[in-house]
Amino acid sequence: MKIYNTLTGKKEEFVPINDGKVTMYVCGPTVYNYFHIGNARPFIVFDTFRNYLKYKGFEVIYVQNITDVDDKIINKAKEKNTTFEKVAEKYTKAYFDDIEKLKIEKPDKSPKATEEIKEMIELIRVLLEKGYAYIIKDGVYFSVEKFTDYGKLSNKKIDELREGARVEINDQKKNPLDFALWKFAKEGEPYWESPWGKGRPGWHIECSVMSKKYTGADTIDIHAGGIDLTFPHHENEIAQSEAASGKKFVNYWMHNGYVNIKGEKMSKSIGNIILAREVTEKYSAEVIRMFILSAHYRSPLDFTWENIEKIKQAFKDIYYTLQILKQVEKPDVKITIEESSYLKNFIDALDDDFNTPEALAIIFNIIKLVKEQIKKEFTNEIVYSLAIIEKNIIEMCKILKILPEIKKPDEKIIKLMDERNILRKEKKFIEADKIKEEIKKAGYILEDTKTRSFLIHEL
Ligand SMILES: [Zn+2]
Ligand SMILES: [Zn+2]
Repeated sequence: MKIYNTLTGKKEEFVPINDGKVTMYVCGPTVYNYFHIGNARPFIVFDTFRNYLKYKGFEVIYVQNITDVDDKIINKAKEKNTTFEKVAEKYTKAYFDDIEKLKIEKPDKSPKATEEIKEMIELIRVLLEKGYAYIIKDGVYFSVEKFTDYGKLSNKKIDELREGARVEINDQKKNPLDFALWKFAKEGEPYWESPWGKGRPGWHIECSVMSKKYTGADTIDIHAGGIDLTFPHHENEIAQSEAASGKKFVNYWMHNGYVNIKGEKMSKSIGNIILAREVTEKYSAEVIRMFILSAHYRSPLDFTWENIEKIKQAFKDIYYTLQILKQVEKPDVKITIEESSYLKNFIDALDDDFNTPEALAIIFNIIKLVKEQIKKEFTNEIVYSLAIIEKNIIEMCKILKILPEIKKPDEKIIKLMDERNILRKEKKFIEADKIKEEIKKAGYILEDTKTRSFLIHEL
């Protein structure tokens, strides 16, 4: 399997540190608001990637932090005249509710920043001791110039990074890119005790601490998140972790592209936000996930209601086809990558930097095939081929977590269909059409082929 590694700027063969095991860290939410569909993209992409790793037989440890103290949370609390804890609690719960609606598997660990303060203080202490950090009037800062590899993830030098960066003016900092490890508390702000004074941790330090603590290793296999986290967040994580441990922090860095609205990045400041919960009200998790996976994870993805509606129509195709296949009497078959060229091509696509649009295209090519085959006489050969195809579609949809639930039609409806078929043979078409109407009212469509009819529950 090859994945594109932001650190090297190349597609690389994925080799985990420990055979058969993968440690994975994905940057999590800052809980001061409901998350939007742009935030949902990395959650869905990397949840699906995690599922794929498991399909490939890896044991995966998946860690995702929850930033539950931060300027945005504190400001929201002020605005709402409440405490930062109440704000964080409300939106942490909302986050878990929303990921459940999107059928995102819970991370193995979801550590909260406020519960890891002791470890963060310890890491800051090490960085001070090793000379990578210094104390000024408003906090403890990391000195980027002390870390010679600073900029390696962005593939830029410190001066180049500085030009493009928006940094707060602080004349006590040695370099404008130096970032806070510990922020001293201002009047009325929440704080924790530390050897350097009352305050709270900076944002970046939590990921360095949690990555090590919950995977149990200085070096992990995969660290993932949105492309906007590359700099400064991930660059700073690398600096902190590698300065402290002297070891490589992460072997593979994976970053997903933006979700755009009419070509513009979805963001709070532009005000073009679509919340994930607005979308889950209208579409199933499978449709939303298929929408997210319809673009390559590194490419931008344009969200419009028309686009997701188109995906729903495509999803319907999978849903209807699987219902038809379920109604065909078939032998029980098994498929393997060695024997099934469909599955092999599908896996090859995913092995090539998780190319989900190509994988989806393979599913739809097979569906086209079903449509041709069910028109034909049901010879043993055709029936066997349909059995193989059904297995393939189910397996692929499971891997991408877009498998619709397929139920057999109600006995009552099947009886109606049989009655109708008899009436049609007797050329009693008016009566037959009446029954068709009745079936439609019950939520089913009839698909008539040359040899038989199928019942399809409408989406
Ligand atoms: Zn991160
Ligand atoms: Zn992070």
